[in-house]
Formats: sequence, C-alpha cells, structure tokens
Amino acid sequence: MSLEGRVALVTGGSRGIGRAVVECLAADGARVAFIYNSNSAAADEVVAAVKETGGECVAIQADVRSKEAADRIVSDVVEMWDSLDILVNNAGIIRDGLLAMMNESDWQDVITTNLNSVFNFCKAVTRQMMSQRYGRIINMSSVAANVANPGQANYAASKGGVEGFTRCIAAELSRRGITANAVAPGFIETDMTKEVVSAAGKEIKKKIPARRLGTPSDIANAVRFLAQQESSYITGQILTVDGGLTLGGL
Ligand code: NAP
Repeated sequence: MSLEGRVALVTGGSRGIGRAVVECLAADGARVAFIYNSNSAAADEVVAAVKETGGECVAIQADVRSKEAADRIVSDVVEMWDSLDILVNNAGIIRDGLLAMMNESDWQDVITTNLNSVFNFCKAVTRQMMSQRYGRIINMSSVAANVANPGQANYAASKGGVEGFTRCIAAELSRRGITANAVAPGFIETDMTKEVVSAAGKEIKKKIPARRLGTPSDIANAVRFLAQQESSYITGQILTVDGGLTLGGL
C-alpha cells in the first residue's frame, strides 16, 4: 500500500500521536502539512525528521478552534500542492475535573478544541474533496467516548460528539468517494498522559490485556490503514486501538 502522490493535512502534528501520524504518512509517500499551536521547537523537529528521510512536510502555526484559520489553511495547501486527499483531525486537549469543580472554560476549551475543530476542518475540505471525488477523513476519538471516567465529562462529550459527527458525514459523503472514520485510542504514552502514567502506570498496565501502554505508532498505523485508497469500502466506523482495554474481560 502506498500514499505516493497524495496530499495530507494533520492537525496537532507537532507532538505525540499527531507526530507519529505525520511521519507515518510521509514515510508512505504523502506530502504532509501539519498544524501545531504553540510549540514551534517541536514542530521544527518533526519537519526536520521527515525531510531527513526524504519526505515532504510543512508545519503551519494555527489555532484549530478558528474556522477562518481552517478555511485559509485548506486553501493554502490546495494552492501549494494542487489537491487535498487526506485529513486527520488529531489535535486535542484534556482539562479533567469532577463536574462539581469544572468551570465553564474547562468545558468550552475542550469542546471547542476537540469537537468544533473537527467541524471546522471537515467543512473546509469538503468542497475540495467533493470536486476531486476522493477523500479520506480520519478523526481522533478516544475510548473515553464510551467509558464512564469520573472527571472526564467534558472530554467524553467532545469525543462522543466526534464519533456521531463522523458517522453522519460518512453517510453524506460516501457517494462522492470520500470516507470518514474515527480512531479511538486507549492509553497511549504521550505528553497528554504523562502525569497519570507516572502516578498509576503499573496499575493501568494490569487492566490492559496486551499488558503494555500503546505507542503513538500503534495509532499512526491505524490511521495509515484508513488513509489508503484500498480502504474505500470502510466508512463511518470507529476503530478502537487499545490493546484490549475495553473488551470487558475478567
Ligand atoms: P499531545 O501529545 O498533548 O499533543 C497534542 C497536539 O495537539 C500538539 O501537537 C498540540 O500542538 C496540538 N494542539 C492542541 N491544541 C491545539 C490548538 N488549539 N490548535 C492547534 N493545535 C493544537 O496529545 P496526544 O496524546 O498525542 O493526543 C492526540 C489526540 O489523540 C487527541 O485528540 C487526544 O484526545 C487523542 N487521544 C489521546 C490518547 C492518549 O492516551 N494520549 C488517548 C485517546 C485519544 P502544540 O505542540 O503546539 O501544543
């Protein structure tokens, strides 16, 4: 399978899962533009790493919460590389806290970053992908969408929203050659999970049938699979990648 000749846009590509996705798609031959928010040193590192392996990659600073930024970036990428074939909505944050303590900004920040951004970028690419009669949209969900984790009401609501949104747009866009799917990671070792892993890493591993935490590459491989031309008959699906965490066995 190859992504030679394809153009990809990845949000939140400077660190963690997004970085692995950028590197994986570029290694398969795609030209990759990615968005980061504030960590320009991390973004530069990703660009350098991709270029070192002969890939093509550009980093764009933007806030994914802005609809105007999404429209501008999509149009810039199309102008630069003539198409946009793959969109990976990966940027996301957590602001955990029990409902009794959760302030409105914790709610708004998570919903706008994790869910509104998915609307912003899907909407921005739709016309281009429809005119190409080709597109692969992959949205990052989480197993937290379907698990009752105390302290994650805002995060679970955002990811549940991502899953419902993904299924609806899949139904709307299939006839135009565009698939839309989500990947739902379990516990993946990134900056996002650093604190909880250092506090309870051993306990967490015991709950995972694979007996290890996931790596960003575990998720990037699932994204790569859904991004292929050959995955054209898979749409509206949520692909869980969690080492068996949510299987519910004893
Ligand atoms: P991470 O290491 O914290 O990286 C987050 C990325 O998103 C960074 O590149 C960051 O850019 C970018 N970002 C955050 N807010 C942004 C904004 N407003 N505008 C533009 N970019 C923004 O996170 P991660 O663990 O890789 O998670 C990636 C995705 O996977 C998220 O959607 C998350 O919810 C999901 N997920 C993660 C896990 C896990 O265990 N790690 C599990 C399930 C789902 P800067 O570098 O500039 O800050």
